[in-house]
This record gives sequence, C-alpha cells and structure tokens, in this order.
Amino acid sequence: MTQPTTPGELRYPSIFTPLKIGNITIRNRLMQTAHAKGFASAEGLTNDRDIHYQAERAKGGIGLIVTGARHVHPNSTGPNRSLARGNRDEMIERDAEMVKAVHAFGGRIIAQLIHFGPQGRSGALDDYRVLWGPSTMKSPAYNEWAKEMTKAEMDEVSDYFAETALKSKAAGFDGVELHYSHGYLHQQFLSFVYNKRTDEYGGSLDNIVRFPIETMQRVREAVGPDFVVGIRVSLDECTVDGMHADTAIQMTRKLVETGLIDYVSATAGTYAAHADQIPPGDYPENWLVDDGARLRAALREVSEIPVFIVGHIVDPAKAEALIASGATDMVAMTRTQIADPEFCNKLREGREDEINHCIRCNQACIARLMAGNAISCVVNPAAGREQRFGLHTVQPAQTPGNWLVVGGGPAGMKAALTLRERGHRVTLVEKGDRLGGMLNLAARLPRRQKFGFIPRDLERQLRKAGVEIRLNTAMSADEVVAFGADGVILATGSTPLKTAFTSTRPAVDRVPGTEQDNVLSVVEVLEDPSRVGKRVVLFDEDGGRYALGTAEYLLDRGHQVHVVSRFISLSPNLALTLDLPVNYQHVFRKGLTYTLNSWVRSIDGKQAQLLNLFTDLDGECLEADTFIIAAGHSPHDALYHALQGRVENLHCIGDARLPRPLQDTIYEGMLAGRELLDDPKRFIEQGELEGFGADWRSAMGAPAH
Ligand code: SF4
Repeated sequence: MTQPTTPGELRYPSIFTPLKIGNITIRNRLMQTAHAKGFASAEGLTNDRDIHYQAERAKGGIGLIVTGARHVHPNSTGPNRSLARGNRDEMIERDAEMVKAVHAFGGRIIAQLIHFGPQGRSGALDDYRVLWGPSTMKSPAYNEWAKEMTKAEMDEVSDYFAETALKSKAAGFDGVELHYSHGYLHQQFLSFVYNKRTDEYGGSLDNIVRFPIETMQRVREAVGPDFVVGIRVSLDECTVDGMHADTAIQMTRKLVETGLIDYVSATAGTYAAHADQIPPGDYPENWLVDDGARLRAALREVSEIPVFIVGHIVDPAKAEALIASGATDMVAMTRTQIADPEFCNKLREGREDEINHCIRCNQACIARLMAGNAISCVVNPAAGREQRFGLHTVQPAQTPGNWLVVGGGPAGMKAALTLRERGHRVTLVEKGDRLGGMLNLAARLPRRQKFGFIPRDLERQLRKAGVEIRLNTAMSADEVVAFGADGVILATGSTPLKTAFTSTRPAVDRVPGTEQDNVLSVVEVLEDPSRVGKRVVLFDEDGGRYALGTAEYLLDRGHQVHVVSRFISLSPNLALTLDLPVNYQHVFRKGLTYTLNSWVRSIDGKQAQLLNLFTDLDGECLEADTFIIAAGHSPHDALYHALQGRVENLHCIGDARLPRPLQDTIYEGMLAGRELLDDPKRFIEQGELEGFGADWRSAMGAPAH
C-alpha cells in the first residue's frame, strides 16, 4: 500500500495492504468466496443478474471475488439447473462482460470450477445421469447412489477442467479455483470416508491426492505458468468419523508441494455436515481460524503461496489481527458482502457506522436457495435485485416533502431511512421506548443476539441522516391528520394470536380454553418470563426458531418444556436455514420432549387434550402450569382503517399490512420509501433480471473504458 491516508487504511493497515497472487495484485485482503446464487439462466449461462450482483460488490470495494461454482462437465449436475456451466463456448462472451464489470470497479474475479460428483442429482436436468464418485456409495446430499469412476472417466473430467480453465482465461478471468472441498467430486477423492478405492487412487495419503493432482496438472498445462490457479479445500469434514484438520493439513501440503497452484482457500464441512459449510449464527465467531492458522504455518514450510480463511469472521478488528499476525493472508467475508456490498468502502472511508451487518440468519440467502429461488438478504433487499434496487438506483424524490412514519419496527425504520435518503423530511414515531419492534424480543432468544444489529444499524443511520425520531409517542388518527404530512406510512406491527388456530384444522377458529390466564403467547413470554410456570407445553404452528427458540429460552431458565407440533418433524423449517442440527443438539441436551403430528383439542385448567391430526383421535392429555401458543399474528391495523379517507397519501406496510417473515417486511419498507408500494411496476416480472446484454456500464455509473 502507498501511505495510508483514509481512516480505514490507518485503522486497518493490514486489511488495506494489497496482496499479490501469482501475477495479479488484489487491492485489499477481503474476499467474497464462491457461493451459489440461483441466478443462472436455464441454459446455465452468466446473465445480467450475475453481472450486476458481482459488479455491485466490486463497486463497493471488495478485493477479490470468486464466482459461484460452475460445472465443467456434462455429468456434473447440481440440485437443479440453477448453476452456471463454465464449459459452454457461449460462456466466454458472457463471462467477459462480468469480468469487465468487476474490473471496471477495481476488483479481481476468479472463476470457480467444479464437478459435483456424488452431490448432484441424477434427474436435475432433462435426462437421467449416473452420478460419479470415487467409490460406489450413497451420497449424503440427496441420498442417491454414485458409481465408482473408471480411470478413463477421471481423465475425461480432468480434461474438462483444463478446457474450462482455458475458456475462463479467454473470458478474462484473473484465475481459476478448483473446488476440492464440501464433499464434491475431488473432495470425496481426498476423503478416507468416501474414497474406498483399492487401486492407486485410494488407501493412502499419496494415493488419495493422485486424481486431484492430475486435474491440477492438466489445468496448469492448459493455462500456462502465468495464470492464477487456486484450490479450495475442506479443513475439517465436521462429522464424527470424518477427516479433521491434522489429516487435511497433511493432504493439502501434498497438493501444494507440487508447485502447481498459486493459493489455497480453506473452508470446512461436507453435505453430511451442511451447516458447517454455511454456519448459521449459532456457531461461534472465528470458529475455523485456529486450524486455518495451522494450515498456513504448515504450508509456509513448503511454499510462499497465500492462504485464505473463512469461518464466521465478522469483526474487521479480528480480520486485521489475523492478517497482521500471519494467521492468514486474506479473510473471506461472504455473507457480510451480501448484506452490505459497500462494506469495504465504508470500512476504508471510516464510515463503519453506516454498515448493515449480516445477522447470520440464513433466511433470505441460503433458505431461498434451498427452496429453489434466487438468493437475497434480509437486511439488504437489493441483494440479487441490483438492477432494480442496487446502489445506483436510488432516485431523489421529485418533490421533496414532509413524511410521517408511524411505527419503529424494521419495516418502518427501513421506510423512513429510504425516504430520507431520497431527500424527504421524515418524522418517525414509535409508541415504545426504543426502536426495533419484535426484533428486540427475537434477539433475546438463544444465540440470536445478532438480530439486534438490525435496529442498531438502522437507528444509527436514521439519526445520522437526520430523521426526527420520537419515542414514547402513540398517535391517534386525529393526531396523524393534524400532523399534516405530505405522506404517511403506517408500520404499526401485529398482535400475537392466542387462539391456537392451525391451518391443518381451518374450521376451528379458537380452541376452547385458550382464553385462560395460563395461556400465553410467545411475545408475552419473552416480555415477562416471570409469568411462566414450571411445567410448560408449547404448541408449535410455526415450525421455526420462533417456537423452538422460545422453548430453549425457557429450558435455559429451568422450566420443563414439552412441544406439541402440528408438523411431521420438529421445527422442519430450520432445515432450510441450516440451523436444525445445532438447535436439535441444544434442545435435546437440555431435556426438551415433544409430540409430532398433533394439536390441541381443548384446554381445561392445567389439562390439554391433544388430537392426532391424521386420525382425529384423541391423543395424550398433557398437564402443565402454562400453555404457550406459537401460532402466528394478526395485523395491528386499526389506525390504518381509522385514517381511510382522512389522509390522502396513506400506506400500510410490514406486519400491519400482513404478518410475514422479516425479509418480506424490510423489503416492503424499502418499496414504501421509494414510493413504489402502490405502483403497478413494483412487481419484478419473472425473468426480468436474468436477461442478456443490457448496458451495465451506464446503468451502474462505471468509469469509461
Ligand atoms: Fe446474512 Fe441473513 Fe442476509 Fe444471509 S439473509 S446475508 S445470513 S443477513
């Protein structure tokens, strides 16, 4: 780095020292690792959505971007058709645009190449393909069998890697990364758990690295000595019988000793430990850095190539310390980038108070992907929708006016901030003594403290932007009218339902007995846990952390808790956010008991009569001191109805409109702040973002060629 000048460069000198990898230089030590986004076209081609997504983050200052994994061979299939195919000839032109866009903003971009091997789906495309693996074995990903590859098939895969690397070079990428982790084809060869071969490709450390080294050799021969080739490796398979760091370090050292590669990017997990690949907020911060530091130290004995580490590193001071101490050469902060693509610029310019922190919820990134959708982000509704809502799309208000926002939950805060950013004068009133609404309660659940980032981040930004905030201010309809605003947004939240209504029994509006004093909502429990008796039965119509987190919150306080779930498994929605295993571990160790496929027929005093939802027969009769209902909310919209016809420019958002997941309500706050809430053009048409060939340069304000 030239002499540090900005506040961030002075505070984080190691982060802002450029790094040389092979023959390229990265402007800082922060990177975005490969991650699936679900953007690719049905043909598997890079499209405008990818280009805008990556360019946005380059514009925001990130040093290095690694693309999402791209297939190199026709027999590599993902879970569906949403991954790019790097081996297609048409990709060169499309990728060239993406590379130009990232370079235009000073970033570097490397293409990650993959063969999914056993982690694919035989029927993911329009035909059926036999999955390939090191050994004939069942895959932990989709429970399908993969067959042991022949030597000819292995050679074919290596050749496709080489061919795809060459195409990546032709597209202008700064390098390629070979995906040797997370249980995909090459990682399974590198694993004594999955590699059961008895030939020269299995059985010993020298043998298990043979096929990955052959692929590296073919790639290096194809691209020549001056093109960056890196590998991504798993430091730990994170399963009981799996490979741990000692073996992984020895194995990686053998790969590095070949002199064929320019960097190592370390990660962890396989599909048998999916949560370890993309850990939810339940994992401790910096959980992988000690093993990463050991890896780097071991590799230093044989090579000077840089080593990158990931693992819930979210604090820039920690990242700085890791780099300064030599524990790593670069720090990966991928979800941090999804949540705030300007993270690096804000850090460098001393605008840390403007950062939107990732809350590690996995709700809008991973869960959407797992459900077959494109990724987005709870705290950054523009993520994945950069053409519509990215950095360059905020338009000043045509007629700056005086706006009133009633309700200081996440939707109201987001709306107020967006209005202010567009030049309106904004007053935000909240009836409670703090902003944040239900998020303040959600942050009380075990390991959910990071949810508190949202109100803290937004409040700081609101105050900095000059929004007038009035706490402890409940407004009547007359007071809103008298305020005389040019526009009013109501974000008055919701009220928890205590009727024990379940969508599986829609004819029953209220379960008898739920009006008793010993029946509480989740909100009442979190507001005042002293109301809860020793023995608790919690009825779960939610299937997520709202219910299970409350159960654990009470277990932590010494209550006996039994969950009655209307689902066929306990908290099934946590499978999508990848926090199911870690939460099961916690609640089962703490003594949680549960009944599935059941609901409550009636409550009488301390007795609850259950019913089986499939047979309608009576189930157990449970005795408890307190019954808790986790069964949804109803809109708190009385003020909205009272103002109909009395205020012209009136809008209702968030839970007050309809109680929904957090990402929906923050998105709606953004729409309202942009004055698009009732615009027919607010809908993003299907396929609108995935076009080809739009002029990203002028749209994003890129510098001239
Ligand atoms: Fe982070 Fe949640 Fe956004 Fe994913 S959705 S990037 S975990 S804040």
